[in-house]
Amino acid sequence: MRTTRFAPSPTGRLHIGNIRTALHNWMIARKEGGNFILRIDDTDAQRSREDFVAAIREDLEWLGLVWDREERQSARLERYEAAFDALRAAGRIYPAYETAQELELKRKIQLGRGLPPIYDRAALALTEEERAAKEADGIAPHWRFRLDHDEPIAWEDGVRGTQTFDPAQLSDPVIRRADGSWLYMLPSTVDDIDMGVTQVLRGEDHVSNTAVQIQMFTALHAAGFAAQHGAAERLPDFAHEALLVGKEGKLSKRLGSLGCDAFRERGIEPEAIIALLARLGTSLPVEPIAERAALLDSFDLSTFGRAPAKFDDAELERINTAIVHQMPFSAVSERLPEGMDEAGWHAVRPNLSTVGEARDWWRLVTGPIDQPDFDEETRAYLGEAARTFEWGDDPWSALTAALKEKTGRKGKALFLPLRQALTGMNHGPDMGELLPLIGEQEARARLASGARRQAPELPDIRP
Ligand code: GLU
Repeated sequence: MRTTRFAPSPTGRLHIGNIRTALHNWMIARKEGGNFILRIDDTDAQRSREDFVAAIREDLEWLGLVWDREERQSARLERYEAAFDALRAAGRIYPAYETAQELELKRKIQLGRGLPPIYDRAALALTEEERAAKEADGIAPHWRFRLDHDEPIAWEDGVRGTQTFDPAQLSDPVIRRADGSWLYMLPSTVDDIDMGVTQVLRGEDHVSNTAVQIQMFTALHAAGFAAQHGAAERLPDFAHEALLVGKEGKLSKRLGSLGCDAFRERGIEPEAIIALLARLGTSLPVEPIAERAALLDSFDLSTFGRAPAKFDDAELERINTAIVHQMPFSAVSERLPEGMDEAGWHAVRPNLSTVGEARDWWRLVTGPIDQPDFDEETRAYLGEAARTFEWGDDPWSALTAALKEKTGRKGKALFLPLRQALTGMNHGPDMGELLPLIGEQEARARLASGARRQAPELPDIRP
């Protein structure tokens, strides 16, 4: 059984990139009857906001990505403290005293010499006395995790294949600030252990974090840091998906701010977002599949490519339109204009690109409509229609068949004036479905009014 987690930091709203990560984690768990955890990464007390937590929940609910369990890092500080103590006792954590400026200067010097900007471990070399002197000077340490340079790092990545890292090429990460607050790296590892996470799927911007965290997992296990809930001492499987980019191939700012709010406003259905994101960047075709079970069946990390996944708004809109055309009345009834029943929905649905547009088409049924100005010949034709008109099971077929016979008109000449008189439009939903909804009395009145309607006087343009 798979346990996955989606771990947003509540420092903003979800955007299309993290919606995708949430979806894939949800899919892995749902496909295998596992657990999907929503973990709020809120150790950064200054930037985390409660309204963002609420918005994240709301967005996931709107998308139908229901989680089995919610966890919060701010409620788990004791666990991080315990992990810190265990690692410190095992010699894997050391205090460091450099200021941000000093570190920046070191990096510049290294880069200037053509060297990679790896932390030089100066703090690790300090003697007891030197540390004591720093602290006597009032310098509080921040804390680094000591990577084991003799322990090569490798994993089989679910998307990227075999990954190897030389730990000596990585900086010992800062895990805790001088004020005691936590950076992302250690709490996340502790959580993944405690919560029995079996699969970590996230963006490829986390690949080097994984390298570091693999050593943290191993060090915590070795230090006897026992998992809560008795989870097994094994590393999760890791997978890093290629990032999402704009159609033009660049990481765009716009994508970073494109969230559920904007989609909802534009009439994009959650199922369209899900259908697109489930397959974007994979070798499977992106199709308007409204059935989640079908998407789950075909979901497979091995179909994910390593090239950036290109997000195209126009593609989302195409999928949305196709999804709307499949939506059953029960899924939309609460969002339809008053009085619009199942037959009404079926009549207008093929003409919609968003559910919201149903309102505009429904006006053709409820009226008032705005008829064009008909010429004399057309008025005569509409008069004929009004006289011929008989109400029955299929009034449109009966009317057009009778008129065809009587007037010899066919095609556009037969249909268009009727459509214009009955709906005020040149195009629109199938008249066979629409006419019964308009109803006999109203239809008669509209035909009669079309027959009466005068063409405007031609302006006199003679000099
Ligand atoms: N809070 C982290 C982020 O949003 C979570 C990364 C992870 O999945 O471990 O990037």
